[in-house]
Amino acid sequence: MSQTIYLNGEYINRDDAKISIMDRGFLFGDGVYELIPIYNSKPFLINKHLQRLRSSMELVGMRTSSGLTENLEQIMLELISRNQYVNHFFYVHITRGYQSSRNHIYSEDIKHTILIMGEEYKVFSREKLENGFKGCVREDFRWMKSNIKSISLLGNVMLKNYAAQNGFYETLLIRDNKLTEGSASNIFVVKNGQVMTPNLGVELLPGVTRDLLIELFRKNNIVVEETDVTEDDLLTSEEVWCTSSTNYCVPITEIDNKKIGKGNVGDYSYKSYDLISNFISAL
Ligand code: PMP
Repeated sequence: MSQTIYLNGEYINRDDAKISIMDRGFLFGDGVYELIPIYNSKPFLINKHLQRLRSSMELVGMRTSSGLTENLEQIMLELISRNQYVNHFFYVHITRGYQSSRNHIYSEDIKHTILIMGEEYKVFSREKLENGFKGCVREDFRWMKSNIKSISLLGNVMLKNYAAQNGFYETLLIRDNKLTEGSASNIFVVKNGQVMTPNLGVELLPGVTRDLLIELFRKNNIVVEETDVTEDDLLTSEEVWCTSSTNYCVPITEIDNKKIGKGNVGDYSYKSYDLISNFISAL
């Protein structure tokens, strides 16, 4: 089925969309992005995603106008209506834009390229969680600005593909003996009955799902510690799960072929899934 996307002021068929090879996003990976779920035809936590997009743009020195987030929201609502999106996600991609010569130095007045497109998507069912998923651990070799949702994802791509090529769902990343995040997710751990997740900082993305889950846990009187999690904490924990906008809770029951806890999906993992599912159903 043909899909209408938004590119630089125009609503066009996805197959007809073109950008210049001189776009800095293409040449330098010079841009930022967001991925926003759509549940029941409504963009999920859109304000939080657009706030993070604005923050990513500011952190890489891209211009932001006061009406930017309202405009992007309007475009998304228009795309939902034109494409009759129900359970999909939006990919929002903003590059620094077209520049007539390839130069690391960008012109200040360059017009940003804005692309918004949707794709069909279904999160894992609760039944699908039951067997758990396998993870692996690798050194986090990415840059020290992983709090920016940059389109330059080569490090994450390499780390996620290491997992995929070796039969794992996710690569959990360790820097200086501390857990940072997954290659495409944030990580929660239960150790000695305490729910923990790494502190925010330049080493990890401030995940919208991470934030939501902490809020929902706290509302349900479950303490979540945002703290350092060592590699040893991770490997000797009772439960581990990943959170992200595409799959809001994925329990990891084995890391590098060693069981986590008893090797079953634990209560807090199910609780995380249920809290977020219920939150979405109540919207
Ligand atoms: N960390 C990384 C590296 C990611 O790619 C993602 C998913 N985009 C996340 C964390 C989770 O963020 P969110 O919950 O906002 O999708």
